[in-house]
Amino acid sequence: MLTKVTMELSSEYLRLALPYMSRYRVPITPQNYAVWYEYVAGANQPLKAALDTLVENEQSIDEEITASLYQKYVDPTDLGKIESAQQLLHTLADTLTTSLDTANGEVSRYEKSLKDCATNLQTNIDPDEFKALVQSLEQSTRQMSSGSQQLQQHLADSQREADQLRSELVKTRNEAKKDAMTGLANRKGLEEMVQRLSGENRLGSTCVLICDIDNFKSVNDSYGHLIGDKVIRMVADVLKNQIKGRDTPARFGGEEFIILLPDTELRGARSVAESIRRAVEGCKIVRPRTGEAIRQVTISIGITQCLVKEDFQETVSRADQALYAAKQAGRNRVEVNTPLHEMKVMVC
Ligand code: GH3
Ligand code: MG
Ligand code: MG
Repeated sequence: MLTKVTMELSSEYLRLALPYMSRYRVPITPQNYAVWYEYVAGANQPLKAALDTLVENEQSIDEEITASLYQKYVDPTDLGKIESAQQLLHTLADTLTTSLDTANGEVSRYEKSLKDCATNLQTNIDPDEFKALVQSLEQSTRQMSSGSQQLQQHLADSQREADQLRSELVKTRNEAKKDAMTGLANRKGLEEMVQRLSGENRLGSTCVLICDIDNFKSVNDSYGHLIGDKVIRMVADVLKNQIKGRDTPARFGGEEFIILLPDTELRGARSVAESIRRAVEGCKIVRPRTGEAIRQVTISIGITQCLVKEDFQETVSRADQALYAAKQAGRNRVEVNTPLHEMKVMVC
């Protein structure tokens, strides 16, 4: 939500933000300024907390880190883009209406001049008058023709702009279904996939995996949030590489992911989950500055099967129970929560 900021307040934010940018040698670009502006304004709490941690730990905050903070905290779905694209479409429609009104006016004038000529031709006119009449007819035809060429040009330009706007809107809408940090589907994208499977009557043959990074809080505590983010991206990359076809991986929140496996039995889902678990276990992350490897990252996975017509939240909470069991059993494990057959009959 946009907050109204007075001139005095915005000058104050500028006065506060610039020393930070100068201390960390961050170039004053609109994107970098947005990060420090939000920081000093204090309304963006998650961004403030992330920057406070970096400032307290006296870590460097270079351009790359500022860019990642911008992506993560300042510009998640950029609804402003959708609004401005809609505004432009309105303007385009208004311009077209005006052009068509003008063209209508020209057609009416042309029609009137033709009628006048026809009336004059019915009376006896001398050759000079006839010549003048033909000349005036020629002139209105020329005007009419140039008006219609202009309109055609206008329509072609507008068509091009409308096409461009349409593709920008599609792009923005797709971005709104993606998690900016990992490039995976976000909750909105996941919901859309669930709706699609439900519409195709395929939810009953879909398995759900919920993955959670083990002891992730201590990764953040030991190595900082930026390495934590790197770990999240690494797990997301494993999911992208391990999952194929119509299977959909999504970032469900923080360090949790959900994977939908359509047309898959529980046995197959367990084998996919085991491959993912092993692939994460085999990954290595090094700290950029020291080259030192961070400790092994593992994930736990809970699996269940969707039931036809069941609320997806119910499915997720059943998978969550399996995940909880995997955590209780020592982490870095896969557990399955098989839905009761009776339940299946009841809800079908
Ligand atoms: P468990 O093995 O039981 O899952 O323990 P855990 O430490 O992973 O679980 P817990 O829920 O206690 O901690 C999750 C942490 O994830 C807390 C939160 O600060 C951190 N987190 C959530 N989202 C992000 C993110 O986008 N980036 C980073 N770096 N950390 C995040
Ligand atoms: Mg968690
Ligand atoms: Mg966790």
